[in-house]
Amino acid sequence: MTLIVDAHEDLAWNVLTFGRDYTRSAHETRRQEHGSETPLRNGDTLLGWQEYQRGYVAVVFSVLFVTPAHRRETWETVYYDNPDQAHALYRAQVDVYHRLVEKHPGKFRLIQTRPDLEHLLGDWQQHELDLPVGEGKGNGRDPESLPKAGHPVGLVVLMEGAEGVREPAELDEWWRLGVRLIGPAWAGTRFCGGTREPGPLTKEGYDLLEAMADFGFILDISHMDERALMQALDFYPGRIASTHANVHSLLKDDDSNRHLSDRAIQSLLERDAVLGVSPLNQFLLAGWKRGDGRELVSLERLVAHIDHICQMAGNAHHVGLGSDFDGGFGLQSVPHEINTIADLQKIGGLLGERGYSEKDVAAILGGNWLKLLRQSLPQK
Ligand SMILES: [Zn+2]
Repeated sequence: MTLIVDAHEDLAWNVLTFGRDYTRSAHETRRQEHGSETPLRNGDTLLGWQEYQRGYVAVVFSVLFVTPAHRRETWETVYYDNPDQAHALYRAQVDVYHRLVEKHPGKFRLIQTRPDLEHLLGDWQQHELDLPVGEGKGNGRDPESLPKAGHPVGLVVLMEGAEGVREPAELDEWWRLGVRLIGPAWAGTRFCGGTREPGPLTKEGYDLLEAMADFGFILDISHMDERALMQALDFYPGRIASTHANVHSLLKDDDSNRHLSDRAIQSLLERDAVLGVSPLNQFLLAGWKRGDGRELVSLERLVAHIDHICQMAGNAHHVGLGSDFDGGFGLQSVPHEINTIADLQKIGGLLGERGYSEKDVAAILGGNWLKLLRQSLPQK
């Protein structure tokens, strides 16, 4: 089975907001949360350690995300009003990942360097045949009985909405804590315009990018307003990713600035970026709402977004997956073929039906992200 890299999961936000425990299976979490407020607010979970094993999800970009006060939901109790609060709350999320890998070294591992990554991948490849996993779908086993043993999932830490960085000099601290990607926006930030809050890169934004380049952070342009994005592509000398955004030209009725225009995609391709697409229904069918039902949306729509980027690039070297699973939505808001993250493997089959080679499928499901990490992570 093909290894999957998922470039966007808000695990720490879920741990601290909903008390989720990702060492459990998704099915166990769903059972425990049944009847509580959590599935109403964030949907039924799509993530769990056993599902990572079944789906061959070897690496996850594990996100630090804290809500700014002006955009919080009424039930949210954790949010920031100023950079000092943001800093403390982002720190608490890094601590979640550090505790997770310390307490469960057999299940999760922090990936900070190239050797960390190679060691992890060696583990997955070496023991591939020993794993008691099925074919990823329809293997007839009780999903809850699936693997008790397996491989550690690698966590690459990504800071989304960079307000946790009070000043560029603090990047040293974040780098030492393991952060390897930074996205300057979610909503608009001190650094640039963001989703539903358009605007350019600010002076502080330029200063942040300059300092990020010195360390070798990967710049995640997701959520950046297009004006800021284009300025950043011109200015940033380091590696660039878009961890979770879809193709705007396939979402004609979407009037937000959340997705990528063909102009932005073209510029990202020219900068050799990797673009992660998200199987979230409202990102696939403009205007879709949770009450509309997930039967309306097929995974084929996600494949159309993948194909669009591949056609523009003329190859399959620039697309990956960035599920954003559990990032404010769950089972109720994803295409009907998906029950858990393990079902991301189905994308490979659909790409095969469109004529994508096995090699291209492997690149899209994980290889393109691995290549970017290999080129970006430090030797030590
Ligand atoms: Zn996001």
